[in-house]
Amino acid sequence: MALRQIRIMGDEKLEKVCRPVTEMTPKLRQLVQDMLDTMYDAGGVGLAAPQVGILKRIVVIDVSEEGDEPLILVNPVLLEQSGEQTGQEGCLSLPGQAGMVTRPNHVKIKSFDENMQEFELEADELLARAICHELDHLEGIMYVRHVEGELFDVTEEAEESGEEEETAKARQRRRAGRGKE
Ligand code: ZN
Repeated sequence: MALRQIRIMGDEKLEKVCRPVTEMTPKLRQLVQDMLDTMYDAGGVGLAAPQVGILKRIVVIDVSEEGDEPLILVNPVLLEQSGEQTGQEGCLSLPGQAGMVTRPNHVKIKSFDENMQEFELEADELLARAICHELDHLEGIMYVRHVEGELFDVTEEAEESGEEEETAKARQRRRAGRGKE
């Protein structure tokens, strides 16, 4: 397992338009695996390559409760969007904060997977929101651009984990990352 450093808002890599992937190389396969490790470690539901400093059109998403395969998007393109949802959104590149963002409630995309096989996907609600959020990252756009009203701090109660030996640092990291993309 290899973790990569998550870039924080203000980092110039988060403001660039990412380049398409032309070939799935061993190096990019490793990037995808590291992105998954980094997303799960941070407790996020999505991560885009520029968030770890790589300007490639690669996204990983996992909004499932448990056990499902994560979604790996290479060169994703939004084909259709419809409806509207307004809800709280956060980002691993802006820890501890969230804001209200309106997104389409339904999207249809086409994308390549990690084997460069093309596929289409329709998504609703949380997954549609996560896809829109991550596709924005590939254009150098942070969600704060869409926030209605003010950003607010998100603090959550520590869980009753029973893991007395869990370090404060690990606990803080887990808390700060939960629900972030
Ligand atoms: Zn984000």
